[in-house]
Amino acid sequence: MARVEKVIIIGSGPAGWTAAIYAARANLQPLVLAGRAKSVPSLELPGGQLMLTTDVENYPGFPEGITGPKMMAYFAQQAVRFGTRIVSDDGLVTEVPDAEAGPAGNYHDCKAVDFSARPFKVIGEDDTVYQAHAVIVATGATANWLGLENEQRLARSGGGVSACAVCDGAMPIFRDKELAVVGGGDSAVEEATYLTKFASKVYMIHRRDQLRASKIMAKRAIDNPKIEVLWNKVVVDVLGDQSITAVRLKDTKTGEQSDQPVGGLFLGIGHTPATKFLAGQLELDRKGYVKLKDEYRTTTSAEGVFAAGDVVDSVYRQAVTAAGMGCKAAIDAEHWLAEQGVS
Ligand code: NAP
Repeated sequence: MARVEKVIIIGSGPAGWTAAIYAARANLQPLVLAGRAKSVPSLELPGGQLMLTTDVENYPGFPEGITGPKMMAYFAQQAVRFGTRIVSDDGLVTEVPDAEAGPAGNYHDCKAVDFSARPFKVIGEDDTVYQAHAVIVATGATANWLGLENEQRLARSGGGVSACAVCDGAMPIFRDKELAVVGGGDSAVEEATYLTKFASKVYMIHRRDQLRASKIMAKRAIDNPKIEVLWNKVVVDVLGDQSITAVRLKDTKTGEQSDQPVGGLFLGIGHTPATKFLAGQLELDRKGYVKLKDEYRTTTSAEGVFAAGDVVDSVYRQAVTAAGMGCKAAIDAEHWLAEQGVS
């Protein structure tokens, strides 16, 4: 009979690792399916969206800022220090290297779950079935794409289209080129600002005449001499055979089309919660985020399954709020396990 874990944590952003830290300190020896780094179009990285972020300047305790990957490596180190185990190609990992690049990239994905009976089943990418009395879902949200045929083709072939400026922007193919970022939110501004380190110029292509980004971030983009915002424009096609040469734009006010030559295109148009693997076993909201049974807790529609971080939160989506929820999920799981006589 396979071992039944006290708690399995699926996901490894601030929510997942914080849940692991709290669960480990509560002597629950959590098992983490952290997720494996994948190439485009899926960006479900171990460490979550912070693996795609350069400087985190708003997480309390780091007055000088810290890179997202390094921060996630610290979170993971803290989790394993208290007995967290991570499923990896090398078996169950109980040590995380102090790497600038963040936690190791050979952690296993979760491909399915079975919450219909207890103990719950969590199925790993290699079909290993893990059993647990409680599960914490902290799988976050992944980047959105426009869905254009040529966008996907060039993204898959490494032809200069990416949904992650921080992952790909430093590549030689983008050096000293004019690049484009689609979107008008904080992510788009962050991507555009990051790309100015390498590009000769960055066009932000936004479908409206006002940025959605927070005031401080919007000002950062507008004041940057290397960034030009192309207002009221949508990308209707991506041009180029082997590599991108231009984007075809349509003016949302006049309907007029024009081609903007660029050597790279980056998407910054928001995220979709990573809930597909749940296959309808938890109640979701209309945007696909896990619905909490009680908004002040982390309980879900399945008793004994808890959820935390961006996978439930389409509003705040901050590292610090995700970490806070991860803490709540571990405490909720601990209390629930105690009620079930599992400690
Ligand atoms: P977001 O705020 O939802 O912004 C998405 C942007 O993409 C919007 O400007 C939207 O246009 C545009 N967009 C969406 N679908 C599009 C499409 N099909 N075609 C063209 N444009 C499209 O997403 P986000 O920027 O990823 O930010 C998400 C959350 O994370 C926010 O709460 C944000 O504050 C936070 N965040 C914070 C930081 C930071 O503080 N450093 C960094 C990144 C993200 P409309 O404006 O017209 O809707």
